[in-house]
Formats: sequence, structure tokens, C-alpha cells
Amino acid sequence: MPFLTYPAALELQKELSGTNAEVITLADDDYVESLDRWSATSEKEAGAIVRVTSVEDVSTVVEFAAKRYVPFAVLSGGYSTNGASSTYGGIVIDLGRMNKVDVQPSSSTISVEGGAKWADVNTAAAQHGLAVVGPTVSQLGVGGTTLGGGIGWLTGKYGLVVDNLIEAQIVLADGSITTASETENPDLFWAIRGAGQDFGVITRFTFKAHPQKNDVYAGMVYLEPDKLPQLVDYVNDLDSKLEEDQGLFFGFTNSNGRTNIVLILFYNGPQDQAEKIFSPLLSLDSGRKEIGMMPYYKANELLNRTADSAGRKRLSGTSVTFPLDMGFFQTVYQHFSHVLDDYPGDGEALLFFEMLPYNKVVEVPNDATAYANRGPYYNVCSIFNWHDAKIDSKVRTLQQGLMNLIREEHIKKSGHGVNMYANYTGFEANAKDLFGDNLSRLKELKKQYDPRNVFRKWHDLLLQTGSSV
Ligand SMILES: Cc1cc2nc3c(=O)[nH]c(=O)nc-3n(C[C@H](O)[C@H](O)[C@H](O)COP(=O)(O)OP(=O)(O)OC[C@H]3O[C@@H](n4cnc5c(N)ncnc54)[C@H](O)[C@@H]3O)c2cc1C
Repeated sequence: MPFLTYPAALELQKELSGTNAEVITLADDDYVESLDRWSATSEKEAGAIVRVTSVEDVSTVVEFAAKRYVPFAVLSGGYSTNGASSTYGGIVIDLGRMNKVDVQPSSSTISVEGGAKWADVNTAAAQHGLAVVGPTVSQLGVGGTTLGGGIGWLTGKYGLVVDNLIEAQIVLADGSITTASETENPDLFWAIRGAGQDFGVITRFTFKAHPQKNDVYAGMVYLEPDKLPQLVDYVNDLDSKLEEDQGLFFGFTNSNGRTNIVLILFYNGPQDQAEKIFSPLLSLDSGRKEIGMMPYYKANELLNRTADSAGRKRLSGTSVTFPLDMGFFQTVYQHFSHVLDDYPGDGEALLFFEMLPYNKVVEVPNDATAYANRGPYYNVCSIFNWHDAKIDSKVRTLQQGLMNLIREEHIKKSGHGVNMYANYTGFEANAKDLFGDNLSRLKELKKQYDPRNVFRKWHDLLLQTGSSV
């Protein structure tokens, strides 16, 4: 794909004259800064970055790019796991300045512009004693997280982020502006709840908000690896009685040169009840504990540091079905520790088994929205951090080996859903893996809403493997 020429960038600037949009090119001082993403592996030299401020700006850029066959990417929080919000030589539609949050307490709804971060939403909602379902890391963009499904601490009680989406304003592939909801363009609304990145630029989301006046119990606990047997017994027991207000992430981290167990505890209720639920874990001799009552928005900042560190990062996901076999979990621990012996990164590596109650998620059938990963199982997520670009492929292979080990065990037990969360997946999966039986309907809707497949940067629905750009 040729680099967008400077005259073409000037032409785009002319089309946007009279608006507040800003076009950044190689000639601008903040060009390099504007390419920043959560991981250096996702940074690509764009031909131009357009900092849009309105739905009309977005429409102008989409139309400009589509007419000239110029590839473009849409940027919200910049935490894409496959670099989908960056482009070599194309145009980035940077939604960062479209970050207004409007809370409507009377209807318990929140309208959010397409470039807002979850931190913006969580703090605005808290001012009205409300909360929305959002991810466990609050620097993420509302855009990418929502459109791929969205899972967080309130999922147990209220479902996925997409299950709480009421309406979206969208700029389609031809630049037209439309609305999708259960009553307006319901087909499009079905598609954007799980595969939204492939259908347009969402400039405004309206979510259901829920009462959240109380603080929550949350925090991190680190354990020595000799506590593995007690942990496995505890989580197997918890699996059968996990309630909607609870959540537990458990797994491993390499800190100070060795592998430890790390836990993140969450309970949306009073401290004494939380301590009762988690007492078998809390009573284990712990190296470090940082835990207590805090506002819901603060609980969503606990993991922000996993995304903060500089350098090269890779997130990969899979799923796990319980009960967890002790021997299998020991093997995962050994594999993780062994990978790290071999892995010359100086950042942190993490592996989490994410126990968030799934009853509310599976209440919705897999064909009710494009999101097809609904089943009685949990997500598993790993994040590796390193610095030397020369070992990119080595880290990728090591990490994928670890995730495949977990996936193979899961697949033996699972008979539901696609077993893969598209927002945790890079190019190692294809559209059929991610959308299963929903893919044929998605392809039909692509013909209607984006016949030239201009939105193909995330997971290309029309390709059998990976992404085309
Ligand atoms: C450290 C880390 C922690 C995570 N934790 C969670 C978690 O707890 N729960 C969870 O569900 N997910 C989690 N994820 C996955 C996360 O949902 C995805 O990485 C998501 O894509 C991030 O969205 P973003 O807007 O920040 O990213 P971006 O890179 O800006 O965008 C991601 C994709 O969405 C598209 N996009 C973004 N905004 C819009 C829009 N308004 N309209 C159209 N397309 C748009 C982009 O073009 C790109 O294809 C995590 C990821 C990371 C890296």
C-alpha cells in the first residue's frame, strides 16, 4: 500500500477546513507522539492522523479515504491486541478528542462519545451513584472494548458490555451517519455487538447504567508457588457457587526474577462478607496483600499498571472449563516458569484465569448478537512484556505455546460457544474461529453495509486467516 502523499494530506485538510479537526503529518512536531499505542509492536507510521471532533468530521474522513481507496484505521484507546488501530501509510481517525460522557440519571443511561476511555465513564457515572459494565483496565478505550464484547467486574451481575448497549451512532463505509438499536437498523445493531469494528465508526454509545452507591472490596494478593494445591481446591469449590457480585482472577506473575501466584479479588458488597468468601485465600501466608474497600472506579485501576509499562507487549487469550485439574495447573505453572527462563524480557509477564460469573452472559443465546463466545467457561489472558524487537517472534511462539496448552485442555471439555474472545485474540485466529455460526450472517450484512470491506483492520470477516492489512 503506497504512503499517503503530502498533497493528498493537504487535500484532506482542505476538505476539513472550517471544522475543529486537526490533520497531523510527518511535517508536524507531534507526529511521532500521535503514533503511540499501548505496545511498541502496534506502532506504525501513518500517512496522516486526523484528530476529529465531531461525527461530521468522521464522515468526511471515511468518505475521503473510501473514495480514494486509502486504507484507514480507527483509534480509540489504542489497546488493540493486534495493532488494528494503526496503519502503515494510511489515515488514522483519532477519536481521542471525542470523549464526552453524558450521564442521564433519570433514565439510568449514559451516552459516551466513541473516543472516551473507561476511566472517563467510570468517574462520571460515580458522581451520580451509577456504574456501567466495563473492562478491568480503565485506560482502555470504550470503542474497541465494547465492539468486541467487553467483560469486567460487573459482568457477573449485568452481562457483557454489549449486553448493556442500548444504541449507537455510526458512520458507515460510504460516510453516511446512522443509528443502530433494537428498533432502528436491528441487523446492524446485532452485528456491532461483537463485530462492530468491521461495520463502521461508532461515534456515540448509549449504555444502561446501574446503581453503584456502595464501595467494593478489591485488591491483589501474592502467594508463594507452594500454595498451588490450596488455590486449586479453593477455585474448584468457588466455581460451583460463584455469585453474581464476585470475581477472582488468579494466575502467575514473574516479579523479582521468580514466578509467584497472583490473585485479584473482587466483591461488590461489604467487607465482612467479602472476607468470609475469600477467607481460605486470605488466611494463606501471603508475601504481599494490597486489598480493601474502594470505589468501583478505583477497582478498575488496579490492573492499569499491566498496560502502563513501556516497551513491546503482547496479549493473548484462551478459555478454561472447570473443574481445574491439579496436575494440569501444575504443568501450566511449570510451563510459565520455564518460558520465563528462556525469555529475556525485563518487564512483567502475567497469566490470569479470569473467574467472572458467566450465568448472565449465557442467558443470551450465541446467535442473539454477533458475539459468539458465550459458554460455561472463563477467559484466560496472558500479557508478556519485552524490549528487544529481535525477539518478537520468539516471544510470540513461547506465549502461543503456553496458551495452546491451556486451550487444548479446555477444548476437551467444552461443547459451547467459540471458546475464543475476539478482543483477546491477534491474527492467530480467523473469523470462523471467532464468530462460529454467526459468520455467515455477518458476511451477508457486510455486503449490505460495507460491500468494499473498507473496515477490515480488526479481524477481517471475509478472510480465512488473519487480517489483510
Ligand atoms: C492490558 C489490557 C487489558 C485488557 N483488559 C480487558 C478487560 O478487562 N476486558 C475486556 O473486555 N477486554 C480487555 N482487553 C481487550 C480490549 O478489549 C481490546 O484490546 C480493545 O480492542 C481495546 O480497545 P481500545 O479502544 O483501547 O483499542 P484501539 O486500539 O483504539 O481499538 C481497537 C479496535 O477497535 C476499533 N475501534 C476503536 N474504537 C472504535 C470506534 N469508536 N468505532 C469503530 N471502531 C473502533 C479500532 O479500529 C481497532 O480495530 C484488554 C486489553 C489489554 C491490552
